[in-house]
Amino acid sequence: MNQAAVRLRSVTRSYGARGTENTVTALNQVSLDIPRGTFTAVMGPSGSGKSTLLQCTAGLDRPTSGQVFLGETDLTRLNETKLTLLRRKRIGFVFQAFNLLPALTAEQNVGLPLRLAGQRPKRSQVLGVLEQVGLRERAGHRPSEMSGGQQQRVALARALVTRPEVLFGDEPTGALDSTTSREVLMLLRSMVDHGQTVIMVTHDPVAASYADRVLFLADGQVRDELYTPSAEQVAARMTTLSVVSPKAGAEASC
Ligand code: ADP
Ligand code: MG
Repeated sequence: MNQAAVRLRSVTRSYGARGTENTVTALNQVSLDIPRGTFTAVMGPSGSGKSTLLQCTAGLDRPTSGQVFLGETDLTRLNETKLTLLRRKRIGFVFQAFNLLPALTAEQNVGLPLRLAGQRPKRSQVLGVLEQVGLRERAGHRPSEMSGGQQQRVALARALVTRPEVLFGDEPTGALDSTTSREVLMLLRSMVDHGQTVIMVTHDPVAASYADRVLFLADGQVRDELYTPSAEQVAARMTTLSVVSPKAGAEASC
């Protein structure tokens, strides 16, 4: 049975007092299955709910209603302590800003999630993940001694050291030039080809073209999707999304 890595069931996330004029519905009744070992890109105009989708799915935020499953676990039923433990053990996250600790070496940064989980990082384990991202020889370097692309690869290694079921990225290549973006994307792609599940928000059609599936969000809903698209197809679909009214966008044919 190829069980889904992630399932969303009627997930709504609204901000502000319910039922008032100030309510913002960041996600509106989203239902979604993400199969294991697949690479999903999430695209959409600014404010369409991409970050909220990612954060609700990764257990960093709680839906107002609906359910989020990681494997068999319903995240919405967990208390804060259990949710924190789940995030540490079963989820990896990389951000646009690499968020490495400047005073620590690559090796120490990568070992950090294990320390937070109360383990003593095994050197072989940490160096193994650095090897996986092609930075074994940089283990002793601090972030300031590395390029942006290298720092993001260290952040990837840090996200992967706990062997998470799903790796999330919120515009992980947003701060990188096109050559270094490509390095990071090829790395993500090869991880997926080795069984990792990856879900990534991006603005960049080229980045999205590395994914197996691209979801297009508008007004807190999934309006459209493409499978194994080219960058040109993604860019064309983005244009339709932003000029067509939300209702009409839902009718767009594949
Ligand atoms: P995206 O990542 O696609 O730009 P977001 O998920 O960040 O979109 O935001 C979706 C909507 O929810 C936007 O209208 C945004 O202003 C609103 N929103 C996000 N976070 C908050 C918050 N903490 N408080 C109030 N509104 C928020
Ligand atoms: Mg965002």
